[in-house]
Formats: sequence, C-alpha cells, structure tokens
Amino acid sequence: MIVAIDGPAGAGKSTISRLVADRYGWTYLDTGAMYRAVTLLALEQGIAPGDADELGLLSRNLEIGFQPGPGGVPRVFAGCREVTEEIRSQEVTGNVSEVSAQAPVRDAMLQKQRDCAVDGNVVVDGRDIGTVVFPEAEVKIFLTASVSERAQRRRLELEGKGVEVAQDRMEREIAARDDYDSSRKVAPLKAADDAVLLDTTDLNIEQVVDRVAEIVEEKI
Ligand code: C5P
Repeated sequence: MIVAIDGPAGAGKSTISRLVADRYGWTYLDTGAMYRAVTLLALEQGIAPGDADELGLLSRNLEIGFQPGPGGVPRVFAGCREVTEEIRSQEVTGNVSEVSAQAPVRDAMLQKQRDCAVDGNVVVDGRDIGTVVFPEAEVKIFLTASVSERAQRRRLELEGKGVEVAQDRMEREIAARDDYDSSRKVAPLKAADDAVLLDTTDLNIEQVVDRVAEIVEEKI
C-alpha cells in the first residue's frame, strides 16, 4: 500500500508519516530530504538555485540514501556522506524551494521516489505525492494547520537545537515557502482531488496519527 501525505511546511508531515510507518512496520520516505540534499550540494558546488541544467545533472548523479537513525528519525546520505543535520540548515531551507521548482530536478527525484516504492508498503511525505509521484496511492492525506501554529512548531523545533528565531520571522518564512511551492509551474503544492484534508491546528501528534491510521485501516 502507498500512503501519500502532502501539505505545506510545518504541518507535521514528517513526524506523522514516520509514526504511521512505525505503527505498521512500513517504510517511510521523506521526499523533502531529497530536495534538501540536492540543495545542500548545489550550494557547496556554487551552482545557482535557478540553474536548471546544472541542477538536473547534479540530481541525476546524486545517490540519496536513508538509514534508520536515533529516535526513529532517518539518517540521510548523499553518496557515502551523512547530511542529516546539514540539510536542515537555514541556508538550505532558504534555497530549497527555488531548487525544487526546476523541472530537471523534479524529473530526477520523481524517478528515485518511484524506485523506493517498487516493493512493499510505504508512507511518503512531500508536496506532490498524491498528485504527481503516486497518483494511484490508496491513501492520500493533505495535512495542514494555521500559519501561526506551523511557525510555532518549527520555531520550537529549532529552539530545541539551540537556534532562536522570532515567531513573526518564522511565519513570514513559512508563508513565503508555501507561496513559492504552491505557485510553481511543475508539480505545485496542492491537495489531490481525492485526498482527505486534515487540519492539525488543534490536534496533538497522537490524535493525528490515530486519524491517519483509521483511514489506512479502512483501506486495508
Ligand atoms: O518537507 P520539507 O519542508 O523538508 O521540504 C523542503 C522543500 O522541498 C519544500 O519547501 C519544497 O520546496 C520541496 N519539496 C517539493 N516536493 C516534495 C517535497 C519537498 O518540492 N515532494
């Protein structure tokens, strides 16, 4: 079974997807981490975030891997190099939307993402999973929450890593990334017509996981 979980930044997609995958012993695929890995290497190699050709070449040649990590959070690898922490930097976050809007980057990632789900059950989170990557997914969820709630969650997450960001700045950044992701030409962020919309603003993690599990079990 394929469970597609899409939605804007900070809606809780990765936490929820990981916990749902854990509950059933399924694989979790974080597609945002893949776009982040491309962005990190592009920044390091001096490739501009709008240079579609160079980014396409980089993306096609990049081996992105995942391994189980502490607390169930997957470790991310670009080739043999671990990039789990670096792909979450403010610099990568600030450039990833432009990089991931480039068609050759998306083509390369689409193929890699489909390859990850050739056998077995998988929970995949991203922006275009239910619409483009796996339009045939049995379960499609569109997770959302208010901008202030999403900014607050991201802010607290960063605070836990010792990075202080003001709430209003976080709200602006999140809203700007959503705008960019929703308005790009290729595979924009949007709910699939047959997705279940789930607003998590007033729900805790356990409640959201239970609701998603209910939807999964109806399909099973
Ligand atoms: O999920 P996360 O916030 O880590 O994703 C980072 C960025 O990667 C998103 O803002 C979006 O620009 C891009 N992305 C995408 N398509 C996906 C997953 C992520 O364009 N399926």
